[in-house]
Amino acid sequence: MLSVNLNTVRQEIAAALERSGRTGERVRLVAVTKTVGPKEIAAAAALGLQDFGENRLQEAVPKLRQFPDLRWHFIGHLQSNKAGEVLAGFSLIHSLDRLSLARALQRRAERQDLEAHCLLQLNISGEKSKSGLGEAELPDFLEALSDFPRIRVAGLMTIAPWCEDPEEVRPIFRRLRELQQLHRRPGLALSELSMGMTGDYIVAVEEGATMVRIGSALFGARPAAPQRKK
Ligand SMILES: *Cc1c(COP(=O)(O)O)cnc(C)c1O
Repeated sequence: MLSVNLNTVRQEIAAALERSGRTGERVRLVAVTKTVGPKEIAAAAALGLQDFGENRLQEAVPKLRQFPDLRWHFIGHLQSNKAGEVLAGFSLIHSLDRLSLARALQRRAERQDLEAHCLLQLNISGEKSKSGLGEAELPDFLEALSDFPRIRVAGLMTIAPWCEDPEEVRPIFRRLRELQQLHRRPGLALSELSMGMTGDYIVAVEEGATMVRIGSALFGARPAAPQRKK
């Protein structure tokens, strides 16, 4: 049941904030609706959820059209040739991870007279299969952003590797927060930390998440993704 699930998640977030001395702070709950249909999205909105996340443009387009008043977050890998469409429909892009994409977003934002609100996606674990900037690339990337005045970087995002025991990924979330502290400066507060999914959001909130991206804890397990042929 969505309302029961949502209550559980909200209580867990509140308890984690309390435990980590973040009393009074708030965490934005982004409901991840990949594979979730319009009826459940409407139900989630009726329960007060305002932020929704999708990782594939193609799947997201009809949902954005049907629910234009919700705040949509783009959380998946973004191809540069889709930058314009994503800019037009989404309020925040969590997955800026390379200069070629920054260039595309800047160009499209100029053309559409918009600002591109983004988070920088970092690959802290160094897993080859994951996209994201490496830590070592972050300083140069931040430097280069001055060439892209239409891009507003609100903070950092990471996806931790899946682990049975979420304690194992605590250091990854801690590191994202350290990077935020290291690289923030006047004009670049990096105030948002988008980290934590169903399996690890409690630990992420304890480590300073300001946004968690949660799908299955709200909507139930997704059907398994089709296996890709080798
Ligand atoms: C699917 C997805 C989520 C949500 O995953 P759950 O484990 O179902 O909570 C969060 N972030 C990203 C980037 C995703 O693709």
